[in-house]
Amino acid sequence: MGWIKFLGTAGARFVVARQLRSSAGTWLELSGTQLLLDPGPGTLLRCRKARPPLEPLELSGIILSHKHLDHSTDVNIMIEAMADGGYKRRGVLLAPHDALEGEDPVVLRYVRPFLERIEAFQDGKAHTVGGVRITPVRHRHGQVETYGVIVEGAEGRIGFVVDTKFFPELPERYAGCQLLVLNTVLREWNPDIDHLSLPEALEIVKAVRPKLAVLTHFGMTMLRGKPKELAAEATAKLGLRVVAAEDGMTLEAKDWA
Ligand SMILES: [Zn+2]
Ligand SMILES: [Zn+2]
Repeated sequence: MGWIKFLGTAGARFVVARQLRSSAGTWLELSGTQLLLDPGPGTLLRCRKARPPLEPLELSGIILSHKHLDHSTDVNIMIEAMADGGYKRRGVLLAPHDALEGEDPVVLRYVRPFLERIEAFQDGKAHTVGGVRITPVRHRHGQVETYGVIVEGAEGRIGFVVDTKFFPELPERYAGCQLLVLNTVLREWNPDIDHLSLPEALEIVKAVRPKLAVLTHFGMTMLRGKPKELAAEATAKLGLRVVAAEDGMTLEAKDWA
């Protein structure tokens, strides 16, 4: 039985800095394989405070979409926790090249030997972790190398449209996803910010037609607009199920079947 838990739903830097919503990552289990996506600030704490607590030792892998702080702050401690404090060599890290090498890598070299393997993303090239297939989708998000991911297991195909500006090929890259999670930072389109706005996120939902769409990673303008109400309006308008994520919200496979 697959499931997803949204440990945090904060998006832009003010929401994160003030912790108006939690900035922890997203934990999922598909085909019996547990994965963690984007361990932002507070992820380890939220894992252990969850009821029942989530156990880093049960993770098979960590996926880092890009190195911005709201996605990567807890990546090192989560690698260490996944490897039982560094005493067991275990787990996989999937990450963009610039999170690992170059001027400002965010994955510390001293935790890297704790991992069984590290694999850098290449657009469209699938990775296998346990019983799950993970395919990265190159996004456009400022100067930082960023990938959305499509995660496939026995319980279906889940798309995580992480931070990106809209581009025309975006919807088709996520075709066939039963569950689509969209980082929807902005209420209205802003040409100066490389993030999805609500109208653009809904444009993608309309094209992909998932069984369920989840909006998350909210900035101030989305929070002021009350995400729950905006999602209800979108459901009525599109005739497709759209929900707004809440901190700690859990979805089960039957919700997107
Ligand atoms: Zn972000
Ligand atoms: Zn970002």
